[in-house]
Amino acid sequence: MAHIVVIGAGQAGSSLCAKLRNLSFEGEITLIGNEPSPPYQRPPLSKAYLLGEMELERLYLRPESFYADNGIALRTGTHVQSIDPVAKTVTTEGETLSYDMLALCTGSTPRRLPDAIGGALDGVHVVRTLADVGAMAPEFTEGKNVLIVGGGYIGLEAAAVAAKKGLKVTLVEMADRILQRVAAPETSDYFRALHTGHGVNILEGVGLDRLIGDTRVTGAKLSDGTELMVDFVIVGVGVAPGSELAKAAGLTLDNGIKTDAQGRTSDPNIWAAGDCASFPYRDTRIRLESVPNAIDQAECIAENMMGAGKDYVAKPWFWSDQYDVKLQIAGLNAGYDRVITRPGDKENSSSFWYYTGNTLLAVDAMNDPRAYMIGKRLIEGGKSPDPAAVADPSVDLKSLM
Ligand code: FAD
Repeated sequence: MAHIVVIGAGQAGSSLCAKLRNLSFEGEITLIGNEPSPPYQRPPLSKAYLLGEMELERLYLRPESFYADNGIALRTGTHVQSIDPVAKTVTTEGETLSYDMLALCTGSTPRRLPDAIGGALDGVHVVRTLADVGAMAPEFTEGKNVLIVGGGYIGLEAAAVAAKKGLKVTLVEMADRILQRVAAPETSDYFRALHTGHGVNILEGVGLDRLIGDTRVTGAKLSDGTELMVDFVIVGVGVAPGSELAKAAGLTLDNGIKTDAQGRTSDPNIWAAGDCASFPYRDTRIRLESVPNAIDQAECIAENMMGAGKDYVAKPWFWSDQYDVKLQIAGLNAGYDRVITRPGDKENSSSFWYYTGNTLLAVDAMNDPRAYMIGKRLIEGGKSPDPAAVADPSVDLKSLM
């Protein structure tokens, strides 16, 4: 009987195993993860769960019984140390397992601050796992000074939670503006105003020189010479794809584990999905760090492991929750040359439409699910409405389809 081993019991790994059973794969499935919990969703770790508004059980992607009920041997707390692609085995601390096909769903790991600038001091946190949140949550008490390093989505979401809980929040972003890597100045302006309105001190174009403290962080010195008193720090400066195992096994890397259009790595028996995988997209290669990608790619790979021969066609979308604002993003904005603003019909609602020439690439919609939905359908259908019509709130969005 064929044995499929999946490394990484996260969003992609659990989706892949569930899909294999859904497709009536009758062989053995082993899902190996190095965290102690069954697979869970990460987005609430910087949103409702961090805020204390979500129960642990609701984080789990599937009930614990799901795995045994579906003949999926789930091994939690088990780190895979190496892969031998010739012998077709994986080795954990205590054991070597044979596979017929292997899937790498090893996710990504947060970048940390170097030890030399205080990255290893107590009170310096990242947000990736339940254990990270467990270590950080007791620090979230009213009146404390938190420094957030990095103005990307995770840093901003953590800032929103901290501000809501009555902490004094300073966020430093080395680039000229928050969200610079991922969004247009219009979106940065929107979120800067939102955070400033909630009392968050946002410093842009300012880096962290170093953290101060003996064993525990007590302060920070910024690149402009400012010194801050700090009770704890949250670092949100991006992630690195989990490709160490693949590298050691001799698989080809390219900004993560390189796969072909069907999700196969440079070894025909090994596949990769989720944050760790880079794959062909239009005329380039991309790696996406999002839940929808982890699920869709893993499900496509499950089909291909069963012989479907199907290309993975990514339909990128993403969301972020900050205060009472839900941001929904459709498409990828890379290469845009102009942004059209469309006012929404409620307070705090609007959308920004990214174009290159007359081609619609992406939409950022703030508290405007309709703009998001219609934008997503237009982008996926390869349709580009007239920018002047998009900008005109008296034009019904539906008429653009
Ligand atoms: P993961 O879910 O990270 O799973 C990978 C698993 O593999 C991990 O448990 C890891 O420990 C394990 N592993 C790695 N190496 C080994 C090994 N050698 N042996 C055993 N196990 C191993 N996405 C959105 O779309 N919207 C959001 O709002 C959003 N918010 C987020 C907020 C936070 C705080 C974080 C951290 C992420 C957020 N994301 C969001 C991103 C999303 O959670 C990830 O893209 C998604 O989890 C990727 O799934 P994955 O299976 O590739 O990786």
